[in-house]
Amino acid sequence: MSAYRLSAAVQTLKPSATLAAAAKAKELKSKGVTVYDFTLGEPDFITPAHIRQAAVAAMEAGQTHYTPSGGIPELKKAVCGLYKRDYSLDFTPAQVLISNGAKHSIHNVIASLCGPGDEVIIPAPYWVSYSALVELTGATAVIVETTEASGFVMSPEQFRAAITPKTRLLMLNNPSNPTGAAYTAAQLEALARVAVENNVLVLSDEIYEKLVYAGAEFRSFASFGPDVAALTIIVSGVSKAYAMTGWRIGWTIGPVEIIKAMDNLQSQETSNPCSISQYASVAALEGPQTSVEEMRQEFERRRNYVMGRMRPWRERFGVTFAEPGGAFYAFFNVSSAFGKPLQGGKVVTNATDFCTALLEEAHVALVTGDAFGAPGYVRLSFATSMDVLKAGLDGIEAFLAG
Ligand code: PMP
Ligand code: GLU
Repeated sequence: MSAYRLSAAVQTLKPSATLAAAAKAKELKSKGVTVYDFTLGEPDFITPAHIRQAAVAAMEAGQTHYTPSGGIPELKKAVCGLYKRDYSLDFTPAQVLISNGAKHSIHNVIASLCGPGDEVIIPAPYWVSYSALVELTGATAVIVETTEASGFVMSPEQFRAAITPKTRLLMLNNPSNPTGAAYTAAQLEALARVAVENNVLVLSDEIYEKLVYAGAEFRSFASFGPDVAALTIIVSGVSKAYAMTGWRIGWTIGPVEIIKAMDNLQSQETSNPCSISQYASVAALEGPQTSVEEMRQEFERRRNYVMGRMRPWRERFGVTFAEPGGAFYAFFNVSSAFGKPLQGGKVVTNATDFCTALLEEAHVALVTGDAFGAPGYVRLSFATSMDVLKAGLDGIEAFLAG
């Protein structure tokens, strides 16, 4: 037997499709090709100055050592302060765990709660890492298909029907990556009631909480009463709202027992998240919030531009989509283009091949919906400049026109 035999858990693990698509676009760029890259969901803005300065100050003050594994008390307090200030929700620092980005937080939640024989309900389309992180623990991802007609919102009936005695968790992402779906308060509350009736925990991934558009309002899942809050595990972080993807700070807020178990796990796996990033995150959460709203407005401007360009595609190309109420993605169905000659005579029969051909012919990089449990769809991140959006949408249009 080969010494290089891999563990059963990683043998079937695929690389993150979003990161893989971004790497492919970068590779083409490195060959000198101008690529219109809409793969990664990350703000193109630099982290606001006062946050960068707080990082420098922390370094200069010697905050360059290990911190408690679950994060510095100042940041836990700042996280509690944010939920009080913005959502009137009361949490204690003992309910908070700081991790190396929200992706790490999600991993820690699942790894602390799930194992072989357990089921985790995931509405599709879902973010690429959800199913992968569930399967890594040996648990089963129970996928609930939502439709474009419903705005990719899971109904309470669908949720109820998916629950079995093995159900450990619902993973809900609001606003959603990749669909941009922003649940209304009534839709969330209906799901919350089903969770309470069936005593099912809800991992509420609220990383796009500050990025909602077209009058949509964000409500935290924990805000529907103490019975709901007792079953809610919030995951969020600084990556999207504060343009801090590289700093790797995310958090989990949940029942103390679960947070303690996650802290144990983290203390064995990674120790604390970067000390400097933690101090910078305190400044992000407690400092002026004007840049958050400025960036949101700019994302909304881009969203409106992208939607304005895409609406005629419905009639012209048979492309379909639900308009995003949050996050920074346009998610559209291109299956009407399958089997027909596209630019350069290319013929494709699925979304993955569509993305490959689009990159080769038009130098536009998207992520295939296949990675999000949504065959026929592709995802465009509009967290990039207007110029790139204009040129890239021209490219997609020419590609579809054939
Ligand atoms: N959840 C969702 C839905 C995401 O799109 C992302 C990607 N940034 C994350 C969690 C993880 O974010 P990060 O690890 O950068 O905090
Ligand atoms: N969440 C972002 C995305 O979906 C960043 C990449 C990743 O972490 O998957 O593009």
